[in-house]
Amino acid sequence: MTGDVAVDRVAAPDVERTAATAREIFQRSLGGEPAGLWAAPGRVNLIGEHVDYAGGTSLPLALPHRTVVAARPREDGRVRVISAWAPEEPWEGALADVRPAGQDGAVAGWPAYPVGVLWALAQREGRLGEVTGLDLAVASDVPVGAGLSSSAALTCSTALAVAELAGVPSSAPGAGADEDALRVELVAACVRAENEGAGSPTGGMDQQASLRARAGHLLLLDAADGTVEHVPLALEEHGLVLLVVDTRANHALVDGQYAARRAACDRAAALLGTPHLARAARGSSVLDVLDRLRAAGAEAEVLRRARHVLTEEERTRALVALLRAGRPGDVGPLLDASHASLREDHEVSSPELDVVTDAARAAGALGARMTGGGFGGSALALVREGDVDAVAEAVTRAAVHAGHPRPQLVAVVAAAGASRVG
Ligand code: ADP
Ligand code: MG
Repeated sequence: MTGDVAVDRVAAPDVERTAATAREIFQRSLGGEPAGLWAAPGRVNLIGEHVDYAGGTSLPLALPHRTVVAARPREDGRVRVISAWAPEEPWEGALADVRPAGQDGAVAGWPAYPVGVLWALAQREGRLGEVTGLDLAVASDVPVGAGLSSSAALTCSTALAVAELAGVPSSAPGAGADEDALRVELVAACVRAENEGAGSPTGGMDQQASLRARAGHLLLLDAADGTVEHVPLALEEHGLVLLVVDTRANHALVDGQYAARRAACDRAAALLGTPHLARAARGSSVLDVLDRLRAAGAEAEVLRRARHVLTEEERTRALVALLRAGRPGDVGPLLDASHASLREDHEVSSPELDVVTDAARAAGALGARMTGGGFGGSALALVREGDVDAVAEAVTRAAVHAGHPRPQLVAVVAAAGASRVG
């Protein structure tokens, strides 16, 4: 296999090409010109996994990969959406007829995401609720269903489009307090669109990253209160590369597994009498909290899930401290420990993810872990620049040898959150 393993190095996104595609589809399928184009990124989470629903801390970065929507408001209350990813005719309906997932009038398939955004925003008072009809064409270079949040890229680009079409200005993320307040509101609408519109569980990390991340920075996100900090990620200066490995094994959160993890964490929090399980060890220790849980009658499985959340929170804090101390090359063991915890205690890894992370470490990666919801999807590896090719080759070889799909590898940088692009 030597020589034919390509690592795609996306230093700068080719958002112009994606935007041109969105515009073309708009013209061809919906007719006329869009009023504007908006782009939102996928994300990868460096650490802090499966903790957002337990009030924990995550550390995602926005990817250079983006979804672009070309949009135009309508006055007649109707919605038409089309995507390059879905070859069928545009979906069309009246916004007033749209209902949440599971009810009569629920939108089936991918259109539920953008239509869900419009629906969620229409429930709101004020300007954000004013757009009640829309023509929308979608193009994207975010891999779909790879655990890199193509769904958030879609909902967040749509939400920003709707906000700006409603006359709410949408400058770059972090432009000021007003801008941040708008983006916080849009995050809530996108989460609602995914949860209630599309019936797809999501804890909010993806939408926060897609709307609020800054270029060159990780987004340190506290799910308990929604506050964010921007932590510089200086990999290149340290000769480091962040490799994302899409295993191409479908990451569909099989049969309510996500809901089951959430329920176990909710039970642990209830036993402790705290709203936020991930915060329970602050001021004491993980062992203390586990003792308290045991004394309160927590089942073995609930204890394991809680141990994942509590230790992951510690690892995330330790990793941020290393980054702030200018030591990104030392975070590898924390990534490895995160993977072990997700595999053993939270039980959300998969053979594909275990094979590629093991292979990456064996070939010299400083650390490797699954990222995102798990059960397939993507992994990441922190690699010295000089080891990238060897790691890429080892990962590909191991996956193919195990009979898994051939993974897709990409070296990523921390890109900016959603913005208007045309
Ligand atoms: P992930 O967000 O990790 O990529 P999800 O299962 O959460 O995976 O979301 C994938 C779904 O989002 C797709 O099945 C589709 O319904 C929708 N989606 C994402 N990107 C697009 C796109 N470019 N065009 C149409 N639908 C999309
Ligand atoms: Mg998603």
